[in-house]
Order: sequence, then C-alpha cells, then structure tokens
Amino acid sequence: MDFSLDEDQQLMVQTVAELMAQENWEAYFQQCEEAHQYPERFVAQLAALGVDSILLPEDRGGMGSGWVTLAAVWAELGRLGAPTYVLYQLPAWDTILREGTAEQIDKIMAYQGTGKQVWNSAMTEPGAGSGLGALQTTYTRRDGKVYLTGHKTFITSSAHVPYLVVMSRDSANPDTFTEWLVDMSLPGITKEPLEKLGLRMDSCCEIYFDEVELAETDLFGTEGRGFARGVDDFDFERFLVACSDYGMAYCAFEDAARYANQREQGGEKIARYQLTQEKFCNMQIRLTNMRNMLFEIAWKFDNGLMGRGDCSMAKYYCARASFEVVDDALQVFAGIGITGNHRVARFWRDLRVDRVSGGTDEMMILTSGRAVLKAYR
Ligand SMILES: Cc1cc2nc3c(=O)[nH]c(=O)nc-3n(C[C@H](O)[C@H](O)[C@H](O)COP(=O)(O)OP(=O)(O)OC[C@H]3O[C@@H](n4cnc5c(N)ncnc54)[C@H](O)[C@@H]3O)c2cc1C
Repeated sequence: MDFSLDEDQQLMVQTVAELMAQENWEAYFQQCEEAHQYPERFVAQLAALGVDSILLPEDRGGMGSGWVTLAAVWAELGRLGAPTYVLYQLPAWDTILREGTAEQIDKIMAYQGTGKQVWNSAMTEPGAGSGLGALQTTYTRRDGKVYLTGHKTFITSSAHVPYLVVMSRDSANPDTFTEWLVDMSLPGITKEPLEKLGLRMDSCCEIYFDEVELAETDLFGTEGRGFARGVDDFDFERFLVACSDYGMAYCAFEDAARYANQREQGGEKIARYQLTQEKFCNMQIRLTNMRNMLFEIAWKFDNGLMGRGDCSMAKYYCARASFEVVDDALQVFAGIGITGNHRVARFWRDLRVDRVSGGTDEMMILTSGRAVLKAYR
C-alpha cells in the first residue's frame, strides 16, 4: 500500500507547517491552557487556510478531499505541537449536510471558515455513560411545541457552542430516541463547568434542560433514529481522536530525542545510555504502528473499504500507544518534565483523558472485537 501524498496533499501539509512556524504558538497554547480557553485565534487561522473544509464537497466551497489528507494534516499539526483535540468538530460538516434541514444547514454552515466552535453532540448523562440506552432526558409534545427536560454531563465545548445536538427519548414512547438541534441561548438551559485532568483548551460542562421550548423544526435527523445517527458519526470522531493522539506522541518523541542528544549526565549524553536507547526503540515502534494503522484506515475509508470496528480499534490502540510514547518521553525529560510547564507534561494529561472520552477503552475493545469475530461467522 502506498501512503505517499499527492501534490495537493503535500501542499496542505506544508501550508499548516508554515502557519506553525509563523509565531511561538506554544506560548499562546500555554496561555489558553491556563485560562481553560479555546485557542480561537489559532483555529481561525487554520480555518482561513481551508483546514475546516478539507472534507467538504467542492460544490460547497470545500476541497472535496478525504481522510488521508486529513490524517496527514492532523499528524503534521500534532507533530508541531498544536492541540488538535480542539478541532474535532472543525471538519465534521458531513453530519449537518447529511442530517440537517435546509434551515439547519444554513445556520451551521454560516460558521464555515471562521474557526469558531459551532456545536457538539450531547448524549452522556450521570446515569447513562457507556450504556446510553439508560438516558432519561425526555421530549414532550404539547400544544404544537416540544419541551425538552433532562441533565447531560461531560459535554465537550458546551460552555461556548451556540448549538448542541441533544439526544432524548419520547416521553410518550420511551423506546423512541430522537435528537434535537438546540439553540443554547434558549430559556431553561443552565450550565456548570467541570474541571478536567487534561484537554483543558476545550470546555466541558454539565447541562440542565428545564422544559426548554423547541419547535418541530428543531428535530435533528429522523425521529427515532437518534442512535443510528450517532453510530454513523462515532467512527469519524474516533478516527480524529486517534490522529490527535498520534500527533501528540510524535511531538513528544521528537522533543525527547533532541533533549536526549544534548543532555549530559555522568560525563555522557543520556542518548548514549542503552536504557535511553531502549525507550526510543519502543517509541519508534509504536509511532510506526500508529501511523500505519491510521493511514491504512484513512485509505480504506477513501476507497469505501473501511470496516465496522476499524476506528474503534484505532482509538483504543492509539490512545494507549501514544500514552506510552509520551510517558517514555516524560521519563527522558525527568525533573524538568515533571516540574516545568513542558508541553510533554500537557500531552501526558491530555492523552489520559482520551482513554475515556469519546468512548472508553473497554467499549472500543467490545466494538472492535465484535467486528473482528463477525467476519468469521
Ligand atoms: C473529557 C470528556 C469529554 C466528553 N465529551 C462528551 C461529549 O461531548 N458528549 C457526550 O455525550 N459525552 C461526552 N463524554 C462522555 C464519555 O463519552 C463518557 O465518559 C464515556 O462514555 C464513559 O461513561 P462514564 O464516564 O459514565 O463511565 P461508565 O460508563 O460508568 O464506565 C465506568 C467503567 O466501567 C466500564 N464499563 C461500562 N460498561 C461496560 C461494559 N458493558 N463492559 C465493560 N466495561 C464497561 C467502562 O469502560 C469504565 O471503565 C465526555 C467524557 C469526558 C471525560
């Protein structure tokens, strides 16, 4: 399989590399991290370069490109230290184009090219995490209106997004799960921000919906097909998480390699010690495996060959493998990694979160394991 990039793909990768070289973005990312702020100035510049439109069809003003391009751009951004985890929704227009009404499409697509946070999906509840079927948020039809009531938790980006796609069940028919595109400025919505171990440049809140009045036109997708919609998009989210994880690991590996080649202890560069070399051997193996897996999946997707469990497997593998790479890198930095404000320490915290958010390791194993076995039924 040939993973070499064509001219357009190379140009896109080079363009984002040039943006990363334009200023000391790391100082800006640290400020955002400390203030728990979305790095909007950075993302706006990415969007201006068309990064948000990589997958968007040409007739919508996009590049009409595929997952290989996306993986290459995400890998390069990550390698150069960009927090690509804040970009999960950035190229995800397919959801609105596939599921939205003309009016909803106009609302969401108005954000194309801005880099602003637009929306996210709110499924999880205090009593419904891995087992989403237990969710309690309901919608009730009354006098030609729809009323949404419930409590969502751990919702990414929810402090600032203008819209959330909220999963709920019909109070009159609890087996019917339906999503609503909710304008977050409506009365009856309250938010409580949550502190997080990592991924601190993006917000995460508890959200309460108290008899929030919606119109029938706010229905998102098809009534009763809420979970099927989610499943269609989970793969993409999981693939992007895996690409972000790989990028962080690559960055930490390169930082640590440069450090190991200049740091001296006991009269030798620490890179000369075999226990350091063992770490770099293992790091490189994991990076190679992640890269091969991600580009193979991207190539399969672009050619209509992707398997049901591929993205879950990639998220499971890359979240763990990248954590191991970053952990080894942190060990190479030793004291200055632990005490300073080094980006490798930030990656270490960020990566630990990825083994839970977007679906836990355990749920990724179950999804991919089932898919593997199904092929032999
Ligand atoms: C930072 C962050 C951001 C998030 N963003 C969003 C978001 O934007 N939107 C959204 O809807 N949700 C979001 N989530 C929620 C996330 O998807 C859930 O946290 C996740 O699905 C796990 O649910 P839980 O935390 O309730 O754990 P639980 O489901 O209670 O799981 C607890 C433990 O039991 C294991 N377990 C549970 N069921 C099984 C099973 N059947 N077999 C084996 N093991 C099992 C789990 O793997 C885990 O180890 C986010 C979470 C975090 C931490």
